[in-house]
Amino acid sequence: MPVKLPIYMDHHASTPIDPAVLKAMMPYLTENYGNPGAYHIFGQKAALAIETAREKTAALINADPGEIVFTSGGTESDNLAIKGIIETLERRGKHIITSSIEHHAVFNVCREMEEHGLKVSYLPVDKFGNINLQHLKEAIRKDTILISLMTANNEIGTQYPIDDIGDIAHENNIFFHTDAVQSANYIPIDVRKSPVDLLSLSAHKLYGPKGVGALYINRDLPFKLKAQMDGGGQERNRRSGTHNVPGIVGMGEACGIALEKMPKTCEVAILRDEMWELFQKAISGVEMHGNQYFRLPNNLNIFIPGVNTTDLVRMCGSKIALSTGSTCNAFQREPSHVIAALGFSMNRSFSTLRIGLGRSTTRDEIYFAVDYIAKQVSMLRGE
Ligand SMILES: *Cc1c(COP(=O)(O)O)cnc(C)c1O
Repeated sequence: MPVKLPIYMDHHASTPIDPAVLKAMMPYLTENYGNPGAYHIFGQKAALAIETAREKTAALINADPGEIVFTSGGTESDNLAIKGIIETLERRGKHIITSSIEHHAVFNVCREMEEHGLKVSYLPVDKFGNINLQHLKEAIRKDTILISLMTANNEIGTQYPIDDIGDIAHENNIFFHTDAVQSANYIPIDVRKSPVDLLSLSAHKLYGPKGVGALYINRDLPFKLKAQMDGGGQERNRRSGTHNVPGIVGMGEACGIALEKMPKTCEVAILRDEMWELFQKAISGVEMHGNQYFRLPNNLNIFIPGVNTTDLVRMCGSKIALSTGSTCNAFQREPSHVIAALGFSMNRSFSTLRIGLGRSTTRDEIYFAVDYIAKQVSMLRGE
């Protein structure tokens, strides 16, 4: 079967909007344009739509709708969680713990806050991207206020054991934030059972629109998280600014579909594993990054020795959408801090290819992709 080109294999960077999501959004981009803060019928329609979306977003992680704050995306949710905790608990302590492979939306917030006197422990990871819980316990200090560790990594797919991490945090009276942006589509989370205080989501990583996200804030937190956006007091003073109504409606719809389709969505692991088998046959010396078992079902991150993968991605560009690693770095050509943290040489990240499969990925596509990529690899290697 001929495949339709170009093939999209960069679902970690973003996902297409599900047709049902777009359909739900459309009325709020057209006739229902009211400001949800207004008292007339236009406003009331928008306000109602936001509350429905809040229920659906909450349901994805079994939260209360009141525990969901809508934001402009994963980045803002991470900023609100981390800066919010730091500012709220300023007097209690100035130390937080994170890992060396967090997304830039966490990593660079920590870096920035260090300039303002925050102390940060960046937990090392092993060559599969796992943290050691013993290291976590040892990093805890009297003044530790927050642990921020992602549910699953956006480059190598490795999952962190968030229940164990949350237990350790709570035993030590420390709050726990997790960036679940990459995992929300695949890994079920029940915040009533998991010891999570704050959790970040982004719509465009789960077949929703860009520019909208959410932060779950546990209703039992013994304080009010300091807002990072002051203004009209929307979102119960937790995030001011007129709501992105179509975006929020899209996010709710996308979360509803993500929950309903999760078992089916996870079946992409079968194709991912098959693709890895094919790569091993087609490209000599290829190695896999990340934890082989405890990882995102749609992620494949490989090392191709002797190949500059920026060149490879460019050569494949018109046929297959691929990535060398984190999308934020794509233009900066900086080596990936994630691959560097795995303990390999810096050069290795220049030979790293990230493949992100999705709901629409077919077997024909993976066969075509491996074949095509292998041909370009031979060319680059001068074979
Ligand atoms: C994409 C991503 C973000 C940022 O989300 P945006 O909505 O693009 O701002 C944060 N964390 C992780 C793990 C991501 O993959």
